[in-house]
Formats: sequence, structure tokens, C-alpha cells
Amino acid sequence: MMGVPAFIVGEESFVGLDVDKLESLLDYRVQHCPTCGQMLRVPKNKGTIVVTCSKCETKFKLNT
Ligand SMILES: [Zn+2]
Repeated sequence: MMGVPAFIVGEESFVGLDVDKLESLLDYRVQHCPTCGQMLRVPKNKGTIVVTCSKCETKFKLNT
């Protein structure tokens, strides 16, 4: 597994970057801050939530 990203999620492992499959196994996804572009982890299936950027502290509503 040299040189390629490898992930272990639960009992499944991945070699390479299969973002869709990876995200489907996680209970969060990555959202970019609309102000500064910081990548933020946000939960999935929580309805409308208010996310606060960890970098610039912008607050924005997000429909999960
Ligand atoms: Zn930000």
C-alpha cells in the first residue's frame, strides 16, 4: 500500500481514493466553508444545522 491512500473503516479497507464509498460509510461528510474554503466535517442526516467554521468562525446553515 505504498504511495496510495489507504483507509480502514470498520472492517472494510480501501486502497485508493474512493470518496463516495468512503463517505457512505461515515456519519459525516466534508463541507467547504463558503467564506474561507476551510474543509469542515459536518454530520449527515441531521436536518438543517448551523455550522461554525473552525478557521474563520463564519456561521452558515446547512441542510444535511
Ligand atoms: Zn471559514
